[in-house]
Amino acid sequence: MIVRYRLGAIEVFSFVENRMRLDGGAMFGVIPKKLWTRELPSDGENLIDLDLNLLLVKSAGRSLLVDTGFGDVPTERERKIYGLASASRLESSLAACGVRPEQLDFVVFSHLHLDHSGGGLVRNGEGQARTRFPRARYIAQRQEWQEATHPNERTLATYVPEYMKAYEDSGQVDLLEGDAELLPGVSVRRTGGHTLGHQSVLISGGGRTVGYFADIFPTRVHLKTAWVPAVDTHPLESLKVKKEILWTTPPGLPSIMTSNIRWPWWSGTGGTTRHDRCRTEVER
Ligand SMILES: [Zn+2]
Repeated sequence: MIVRYRLGAIEVFSFVENRMRLDGGAMFGVIPKKLWTRELPSDGENLIDLDLNLLLVKSAGRSLLVDTGFGDVPTERERKIYGLASASRLESSLAACGVRPEQLDFVVFSHLHLDHSGGGLVRNGEGQARTRFPRARYIAQRQEWQEATHPNERTLATYVPEYMKAYEDSGQVDLLEGDAELLPGVSVRRTGGHTLGHQSVLISGGGRTVGYFADIFPTRVHLKTAWVPAVDTHPLESLKVKKEILWTTPPGLPSIMTSNIRWPWWSGTGGTTRHDRCRTEVER
């Protein structure tokens, strides 16, 4: 299903690229299982079901994809580890939005973990990974690129060296140092926390703002500020940025899109929310 929104002159399409299963403990950090299973139940192996929620943005005649999901490049072993439910729906979803791979102008990575960066690649006849979008510029924070290409023992499993090599060889990667406007009404903000170079995408038009905060708010449950995933490399930075987003953004909070729950996820709101609604959710 593709959900379409209009923000002034900007069109935003939200769709689910695939579904995966992850360890609940990894998703909820210090929060006891007794509490998080009330929100998102797990199976006998402690796994919870999650969507891979992506955005396509059309602004000023250009098209921009926010994150890419796993795509078609994972090995059978990786598909099993992450419990991928089906084949990637990335290309068929883009087609339904009227965008062919060769037409896409930008790919923005919130960060380069494999569940966000795999879809930007496809394998050729020899099985080698190459970029899926031949004209696109692939955009990440320089800090994120540094982390992804120099992983430590703790982050090694979340970055795939083969993917980073394919991106580097393509010559299509542009690295940012901090906040930037990419298209009219479309900007990125370095949020850190989940990874040092993690960034969010803010889309503003028609008097409204939508924020895709990726793994800062992977699910609606993570609107509770203390609910920070165990995999975050800088959890206190995650806590700080969550509070900034939820409590100090005047005059109203941007509508929040999460990376692992399809949008909209508040029934009756048409996919939008306001500051007071978030406050209710956080305190619930
Ligand atoms: Zn991540």
